[in-house]
Amino acid sequence: MRVERIALSGFRNYDEETVSFGPAVNVISGPNAQGKTNLLEAVYLLTGAHSFRTRFDKELIGFDCDWATVLADVDSGGRSQTIRLLFRRGQSRQVTVNGAKKPSSALAGLMTAVLFSPEDLYLIKEGAAARRRLMDNAISQLRPGYAAILSDFNKLYENKTRILRDQREKPSLLTALDEFSDGLARCSARMIRYRASFAARLAKAAAPIHRDFSGGKEELSVVYKTVSTVTDPRAPAEVIYEQIMAHQRAHRQAELAAGQCLTGAHKDDLEISINGQAARSFASQGQARTAALSIKLAEREIFKAETGEYPVLLLDDVLSELDGARQEFVLNRIGGGQTLITCCEDENISRRTGGQVFTVRDGRIMSQ
Ligand code: ATP
Ligand code: MG
Repeated sequence: MRVERIALSGFRNYDEETVSFGPAVNVISGPNAQGKTNLLEAVYLLTGAHSFRTRFDKELIGFDCDWATVLADVDSGGRSQTIRLLFRRGQSRQVTVNGAKKPSSALAGLMTAVLFSPEDLYLIKEGAAARRRLMDNAISQLRPGYAAILSDFNKLYENKTRILRDQREKPSLLTALDEFSDGLARCSARMIRYRASFAARLAKAAAPIHRDFSGGKEELSVVYKTVSTVTDPRAPAEVIYEQIMAHQRAHRQAELAAGQCLTGAHKDDLEISINGQAARSFASQGQARTAALSIKLAEREIFKAETGEYPVLLLDDVLSELDGARQEFVLNRIGGGQTLITCCEDENISRRTGGQVFTVRDGRIMSQ
């Protein structure tokens, strides 16, 4: 998987800019607030998953513009594909692949990317939302149907939460509660199956990487956690649905009292342990970082196994956050695919990676 060329118009702080990337390491350097992360965001958008920074497409459009486009030639499975994304204020995005209009889900598997930013280093110690995001972003890129289920789920969740929150002032809202609870359970059942199978693959891929990384001293384990009544998260969706409904019935009064949804895939988590101890509680900062890196590198391996090619690896400012040994480990692992690395200084990283260097200044990209 490779981005050969990308052209941005009215995208964030880019007016009109085109850049051609090399097939291996590309170092994107420049001072703060020049457009480095914006460029990675544009590449990430080609995967069909939403932006890693915002839920609102309108934020992608330049302040003085009415629309933005991201046009890219990507190499996918040895075939060149042209992807064009159009964002307009107040309208939904438009995706075209080789000139034909497509739903965003058509990009799943066509273009894949794994993003790695300093926040990911806190993946282990943070709340469960970060770990659910990791699963959702990865699965959305690999499975065309997943992003749509997730989007339905989020809408149902918002509606149900509103009902539970406002029902005391407006009891008539309760007439719609069962319908939303049912929809939420159906979406949750489908998400749980996808997440369970992704988590199992992640566990398998991350363990040997982490073993290597820790010099054989640490065993990393990743276990998917979901609604307590679900006995097998990989069972048929209908079975999971019934088990979620049982949980929901048992917690109906508690939901009304709390004014919150207490049952569903929004409470899922990945339980990560190192040598049998819960990493969130017991891992040192260094161990947690190493585990986070292992998980991110494992994600890249899963994409490779799934599509036959390494995804584009986007390293946003992350290398400067790592000590020498961890930098070395990451840099030794990124061969075989295309990588875009942003940093504020290029000398050191470009010398070490032999990468092609681009400098970004105020929405202009110069190749060196
Ligand atoms: P850093 O090294 O600090 O991470 P960066 O080069 O990664 O900097 P970006 O996050 O890419 O910087 O942002 C560059 C600039 O783009 C910021 O100054 C920001 O205000 C601007 N920007 C963000 N969104 C828009 C938009 N919709 N329209 C115009 N400018 C925008
Ligand atoms: Mg940045």
